[in-house]
This record gives sequence, structure tokens and C-alpha cells, in this order.
Amino acid sequence: MSTMVSAPAGWEMVVGLEVHVQLRTRTKAFCNCSTEYGAAPNVNTCPVCLALPGALPVLNAHAVELATRAALALGCTVNPMSVFARKNYFYPDLPKGYQISQFDKPLAEHGRLKIGTNAEGTGITVGITRVHMEEDAGKSVHDRYAGATAIDLNRAGVPLIEIVSEPDMRSAEAAGAYLRTLKLILQYVGISDCDMEKGSLRVDANVSARRAGEVKLGTKTEVKNLNSFSNVERALALEFARQTELLERGGRVEQQTMLFDQARGVVRPSRTKEGSHDYRYFPEPDLPPLVLDAGFIERMQTSLPELPEARRSRFAGDYALGEYDVDVLTSSAELADYFEGVARQSGDAKAAANWTINGVLTALNASGDDIDAFRVRPADLAALITLVRDGVVGHSAAKQVFAEMVRTGDRPEQVAQREGLVRVDDDAALRGWIDEVLAEHPAEAQRYLAGEKKLQGVLVGFVMKKSKGSADAKKVNQLLASRAQG
Ligand SMILES: [Zn+2]
Repeated sequence: MSTMVSAPAGWEMVVGLEVHVQLRTRTKAFCNCSTEYGAAPNVNTCPVCLALPGALPVLNAHAVELATRAALALGCTVNPMSVFARKNYFYPDLPKGYQISQFDKPLAEHGRLKIGTNAEGTGITVGITRVHMEEDAGKSVHDRYAGATAIDLNRAGVPLIEIVSEPDMRSAEAAGAYLRTLKLILQYVGISDCDMEKGSLRVDANVSARRAGEVKLGTKTEVKNLNSFSNVERALALEFARQTELLERGGRVEQQTMLFDQARGVVRPSRTKEGSHDYRYFPEPDLPPLVLDAGFIERMQTSLPELPEARRSRFAGDYALGEYDVDVLTSSAELADYFEGVARQSGDAKAAANWTINGVLTALNASGDDIDAFRVRPADLAALITLVRDGVVGHSAAKQVFAEMVRTGDRPEQVAQREGLVRVDDDAALRGWIDEVLAEHPAEAQRYLAGEKKLQGVLVGFVMKKSKGSADAKKVNQLLASRAQG
């Protein structure tokens, strides 16, 4: 997938993104049907989302809360009054013949998203034009019946927000960074699972090209059918190369919708003339204007959790962690919470970071589990760190204790006792293992006792293995050395 697409020099890419995000509500935007993903076709429907005559929409208050929280987390101003509008178009999976959306009076406007730093070390901030609420359409299913299209209306009426950015991005990588940052914020706030595979986060990209130094925007195209962030980056690079080659030859970019064809690695014009849509928007007569009082907006603001950027700088400051550790540990709110629990209860942030990254994440990657289902809770991992610090369990034995904790969910003291992994520094026990090792390896023993000192490390290794890592390595070294001198 690392196809390098090169565009002619002297051109600048201009990108703006439209992101649709399904809100994590139990029921749909305007009726009581379930939003459950993956149910049998058309079971989650009712007269409202089937658009039967006379059925009236009722706005889902939880959807308004989630949309407002998302808008505030993106630094938007929430409008005290916004208006639902009908966006009219014909499509088989849109039974009403229109989608309830918002048009000239959206829920929120004028936000911003910081996506990192440019080569000069200045922060890059992308403007958020607007966040508005709307409903999802149903799904056309093309692979169920040969030669026919089936319609599944379970998704019709699922609440969405659309987040529209300013054309502030200048590269495919910046677009990728914007999307990853946006997704992380929305996940921290808990408004959506943002799962692109289930379609709960969808991206359309507007891209144009202009001569370097030019202020006026070129003609843009809209690229659709983007099912992963890496495909967004790939499709933008392809479309930018196509546009600039066309412009270099003296051609003109036509404003149109392009589809990314992942299998063939090309961007091609969509067969439908989507660019020429006239949606004939008008206010939705069945819904009153959405009026949000200052108290509600204030409550939504104070209900926001600590956002990723704030958490990153606090982790770097409070726990004195390096950039890599901070990036990994803040990659999800759940992981950050887990690490903080371990750090607080063990009083050792560095050890907590190491164990969370090298132990917990490795185990989760191997099992494919979610951290919420992880057997080793922060208090148990903190207890293990304390056992190591107090010298009760050695470093290599601690890894085995941890593996057993992951398997059984038992407390570290229990595991260490049961598995014989409590550090042994008792001379008699250590001498016993040394005697056994020397007897089992007579050739090495003879050479070592005759003065071949470099064999000491090998023999200590045998003792550690025999003791399953529980022997006090320092003492084993001392006892062996005294044996050689004696
Ligand atoms: Zn319904």
C-alpha cells in the first residue's frame, strides 16, 4: 500500500474534510427503533423511519446531548437555536424522499482542531466550519440477490453529526492527522465508537490544486468511498496527481464526485452527477426549531472529560514521561485511565508506564481483547510493582507472575506463592540449587572450579532457570564465586 504518487512540482494541495459520525444512542434520531448494528434486515423499523403517511418525528434528546458535547469538544460555538431542514433527493434507501438535516442554521459553528506541528515547529490548527445533526439513510445491499438490489432500512434514521472542516489542510498526511485526532477526541468524549468498518465514521474529502503562492482556490473535486484513514491519504495523493497533471497540460478540473477504487488503486469519476444536485432545502415543518438554553450548554461543557491534548501535557508534566510513552498511553481514554490507576496505586509512574506498554498492551494485542475485559486490574498490577520494588519478586520472575495473572486473574502474591516465584535469598536453598547444577554439568563445573571464571555467568543462568527465576541472582553469584575460591 506504500504506492508513492508524485505530483509535478510547484503545486499546492488544498483539502477540506466532511466527516459523518453515528452517535452512540440506543434509539434512532426521530423514533424509538433500536440502533443495534448487525440485526436481521428491516427488523428495526417503524412507521416513522419507514416514512409511512401521517407518521411524525420526535427528536431524541440523548442525540442532542451527544452532538452538543462533540461540538463543544471541537471548540465550536453552540447556537442557542438551530433548525432542522429537509434535504430532498431521490434514492432507493431513502423512503421519505428527503433526509432530515440542518442547513442554514446548524447546531454549532466556528470550531478548531489542533493536529500537531509543522516543519517550523508551529502548531497546525484546522478550522471547523460547522457541526450539524442529521439522520442516516438506509442501506442498498447489492450482494444478497443475484442481479437485484435489496434495501435494509435498519440504518434509516440513526442519528449522525456531520463535521465540516475549513480547507486548511495542505497535504494528504495532514488530512490523515486531522482524522486520527478527530477520532481520538470523539472517542474520549464517548459520543461514538467511530468504527469505520461498521460505517459509524465516514469521510468525504474535498481536494483542489493551486500554484504555490496562489491565494485563490482551484476547482475542487469530492472524493468518496473512503473506508480507512490510509485510503483517504492514498486517494488524496492520487487525485492531487491527476489534477496537477491535467492543469500542467493546460486542462481544466471539472467539479465532480470521484470514487476511490481500492482494488485497482485509482480514483475515477462517479457515474452519478452528484455535483449538480439541487437539494431544495426547506425547514422541516414537522419539527420545531431546536432551542438550547445556556444552562444546558453549560452542563454539556462541564460534563466533558479531560481531552487528549490536555491529558498528554499532564502525563508529560506530572509523570515525567517521554513523548513515545505519552503518545502510546493516551491513545485511548481507557488505556490512559488504566495507566493512571497503576501509577497512582504503585507510586511509580515509570514502572507503571513500562508495565502498561510492554506487559498489558502486548497481552491485549496477543489476545485481541479490550482493556475493559482485561483480567489484571490496575490495583493488581500496582501490587506486582510493589512486590518487585520490595525485593519479594525478582525482575524475571515478575514477568512469569504477570503472565499467570493474565491467564487466571489471580492476585500477584497468590501467584508468586503458588508458582514458587517468591524470591529466594536463603543460603541453604541457594546452595542446594548450586550443588544440583554443578552435578548436572560436571564438565563446566570442573573447568569453573579450576579457574575458568567466564563460566560463572553460564552457571548462574542454570541456577536461575532451575529456580524459575526466583533465586536472588546477586547472592548466587557470590556463593558461586566463594565456591571457586574455596
Ligand atoms: Zn423507527
